[in-house]
Amino acid sequence: MKVYVNGKLLDKRDAKVSVFDHGYLYGDGVFEGIRAYNKLVFKLKEHIDRLYESAHSIMLDVPLAKSKMQEAIIKTIQANKLKDAYIRVVLSRGEGDLGLDPRKCKGRQTLVIIADKISLYPKEVYQKGMKIVTVPTMRNLCEAVNPQIKSLNYLNNILAKIEAINSGYQEGLMLDHLGYVAECTGENIFVVKNGQLYTPPQCMGTLRGITRDTVIDIAKKLKIPANEHVLTRHEFYISDESFLTGTAAELMPVVEVDGRKIGTGKPGKITQKIMEEFKKITKKEGVRYELG
Ligand SMILES: *Cc1c(COP(=O)(O)O)cnc(C)c1O
Repeated sequence: MKVYVNGKLLDKRDAKVSVFDHGYLYGDGVFEGIRAYNKLVFKLKEHIDRLYESAHSIMLDVPLAKSKMQEAIIKTIQANKLKDAYIRVVLSRGEGDLGLDPRKCKGRQTLVIIADKISLYPKEVYQKGMKIVTVPTMRNLCEAVNPQIKSLNYLNNILAKIEAINSGYQEGLMLDHLGYVAECTGENIFVVKNGQLYTPPQCMGTLRGITRDTVIDIAKKLKIPANEHVLTRHEFYISDESFLTGTAAELMPVVEVDGRKIGTGKPGKITQKIMEEFKKITKKEGVRYELG
């Protein structure tokens, strides 16, 4: 495997960053997870735009122009000869001293691009649907660490993941500080009620997922009304269908929350229709690359 580190493609064993990197010391940095399907990088522009927005928000300069970032990502996929890939772009503050002051790292950001394969869950879970549980750790406050920033500071989500696992579940439902449904540990949430889609608005402790936006577009095309609406757990429990969205997890049906069956307890019809449509568009949309 070849890994991109600051402009160079290195063998996996040589791909290393400094222990003084503030990304390592403090989680000071931002990232993106991107997928390529059949030699097409899906929503590449959207991912690059969000990376630059996250970086801008934390006053982190991106050392490359967006066009060069796109080239670097594609070069990394090509170097690994991957037709289908999961790509992780990590931009951290870089090497500094032991203090917090990011100015000490100035101009030496670390950019790493890894192109690999992952499927987050076994195929069977995608077919049968997932059971999830509400976790005690609330989602970060927008006015603390805004969930819109796709940051390396991921402890909020990891704590929630640990709690879900400790309770015997694979995924945890996170609420915001008011007790409304926010998102799962790395995926956005949708519910279906009476033929309409509902997902929490961006301001409710959710990251604006690119898969989430894609699903809203698909719903429009299929003439299924999609609403951004505050959701309580009660509304989740009484929904007809539910599913999660994320680049890594893709679309995952949810069939039980906190011991309550969702709908029939099986992946719903609208969920399946949207999953099919998602598969279709990932096969034909995206930035094309060649493999030698
Ligand atoms: C990345 C991420 C998502 C999913 O966003 P996509 O753009 O669809 O991959 C959802 N929640 C969190 C916390 C994330 O980090």
